[in-house]
Amino acid sequence: MARRELAALETEIVNARTAAGDVQRELTKSDQDVQLVRGRAARNQSRLDAGQGSAKDLQALQHELASLARRQSELEDLELAVMERAEVLTARVTELEARRAELAQRVEALESERDAALATLDAEAEKVASGRADIVAGVGEDLLALYEKVRASSGGMAAAVLRHRRCGGCRLELGNVDLDRIRKAPQDEVVRCEECRRIMIRTGESGL
Ligand SMILES: [Zn+2]
Repeated sequence: MARRELAALETEIVNARTAAGDVQRELTKSDQDVQLVRGRAARNQSRLDAGQGSAKDLQALQHELASLARRQSELEDLELAVMERAEVLTARVTELEARRAELAQRVEALESERDAALATLDAEAEKVASGRADIVAGVGEDLLALYEKVRASSGGMAAAVLRHRRCGGCRLELGNVDLDRIRKAPQDEVVRCEECRRIMIRTGESGL
């Protein structure tokens, strides 16, 4: 999501830079136009100051000087407008680049967060897998076979804790006869719930 936003921003920056470059060229051209008129006006002025030529010539020079001054003023206004546009575009590029830097940082943070989460999940999965392998190794093959069989027939839950005389699988309370039988069974004997046939795990809280 943030990465897509970043790509869109890149495009926007390229466009803004292109527009800024165009305006910069426009500004150079505009400045040249102003310089041209200024130069011509300066030449006319020095000819006028020198006072050479007929009265008619000097009058014509004065006319041209006045029209050059008007032209120069127009061109300068134009240049000012282009300058303002160039400033706006430059500011826009700067702003977009700042946003890109910020977004790039966010993408980086999100990615390292995701990597950390994945690493934790991997470690967790490894721990669970090795734990299960340890248990399987420690349990006899007969019990394992029974475990798999019960699991298949009881919705994936093969063993349940016996707590306060109640089976954790089917939630039914065991009768006195069953409890007595379980109480007397050796610790390593597999005892099962008479109701749901799940393997009963005996604990200090079984109520035996
Ligand atoms: Zn049960």
